[in-house]
Amino acid sequence: MQISIRQISNRLLLFCLVSAFTWPSNGQANLHSVPVTTLVKAGRLLDPRTGNVLAPAAILIQGDKIKQVGPPSQITDLGEAKIIDLGTATLLPGFIDSHAHLLLDIVVPPEAESRRHSNGEFAPGLLLAIVESPSKRALMGAQLAREDLESGITTVRNLGHSGIDGDSELRDAINAGRVPGPRILASGRKLITQGEYVQNLNPALSDAILQQEFLLIDGVDLARHSVRQNESHNVDVIKVSADENLTLPELSAAVEEAHRLHLKVAVHAIDATSIQTAIDAGADSIEHGNEITDLQLKQMRDKGIFLDLTPTFYGGFFLKITEPSIVMPPAVHDAELSSATRGKKRYDELVQRVLKSGVKFAAGSDMCWSYPGKTRGQASVATFVSLGEARTPALDVIRAITVNAAEMLGWQDRVGAVEPGKFADLVGVAGDPVADITELEHVGFVMKGGQVIRNDFAKH
Ligand SMILES: [Zn+2]
Repeated sequence: MQISIRQISNRLLLFCLVSAFTWPSNGQANLHSVPVTTLVKAGRLLDPRTGNVLAPAAILIQGDKIKQVGPPSQITDLGEAKIIDLGTATLLPGFIDSHAHLLLDIVVPPEAESRRHSNGEFAPGLLLAIVESPSKRALMGAQLAREDLESGITTVRNLGHSGIDGDSELRDAINAGRVPGPRILASGRKLITQGEYVQNLNPALSDAILQQEFLLIDGVDLARHSVRQNESHNVDVIKVSADENLTLPELSAAVEEAHRLHLKVAVHAIDATSIQTAIDAGADSIEHGNEITDLQLKQMRDKGIFLDLTPTFYGGFFLKITEPSIVMPPAVHDAELSSATRGKKRYDELVQRVLKSGVKFAAGSDMCWSYPGKTRGQASVATFVSLGEARTPALDVIRAITVNAAEMLGWQDRVGAVEPGKFADLVGVAGDPVADITELEHVGFVMKGGQVIRNDFAKH
């Protein structure tokens, strides 16, 4: 009997459809079964929004969502719930890192090599990340994503340096259950002006190298085009790096196009001129903002623009990541130390001005360095804790990485709070994080979407 190609493909299609419904496996196994019910009990539950503590607390979880929150005696509808008892631990929402770079892990090169290869804003470590194999980079991203999750970071907004689609593919792989990691909002390539990035690169290759990492925003047409190009790679957010070259019409065009596509825009801006361009263009968040003026803080508050604080270098960070591997001449070491002290003082002042202004703020780690002795997750959470060292009240630090961050991301309906209807993303610590913010660095329990990632409180 002869059958046509079309008949064969129709039969194959039918076979596949039948198979999909009758042979559930892997991700499909639970498709039609009743979702698992879990009851998590703990000594305390902190609500970062109000600062209220529920003690003792119980959270009923069905599938990946929270169904009920209350004192254990008031939880009904228990059914066949699996019970996880965390004893006296304090629960809080899973952490949100609003400014991450999961596909970048810079090993700071020795001083001499750094000088030899110094190339404008292209530090050798950054350049190497771009020119090496994208497959290698993606696998490293999977490792750093897992390390984030194990430290309690259940949501990440990844803002660039991922290659063309590294972060959106990592997001999809995590969502498909192929690798463990946080929920990811991916920005794809960073939008930049031509600026300094091409200095000293091999001119025959520079465009090809740049295209791996960036999209240009020079001119309003290119700005719109670059937003659309990122959108075609299925990004969740647009990241623009603003410097003094970027014009208001260029950034306004990018923001307008992004908003038309229902994407928020995060703008890296350090100096007052770039910050003003970002405010005037209607950015959704300003990243870093180190040199922001009081007037600009007021403008941001009035317009509802979020400030995303990134105290990455606070407290001599650079020395901490370089000293284990680089022997510095005493003069260089001393210069680094006094620059760290000056930087700390400036950041302390910034934090006080931000708190006084009433501007909405979140926090991001901006972690993209290899930190000797720490995983990416541990290094990132240490950055949040730095905000506390800079005299941010503990509750405000916790808000900055939970409820505030969720609002900044536009995900306030799904993460950032322990409430019915939200994803069951939870973190548990042994002590009281409001009394001691460093508790965040020692999470003993992590749950993402109802799945236990770690539980050091489990009785052995
Ligand atoms: Zn960054």
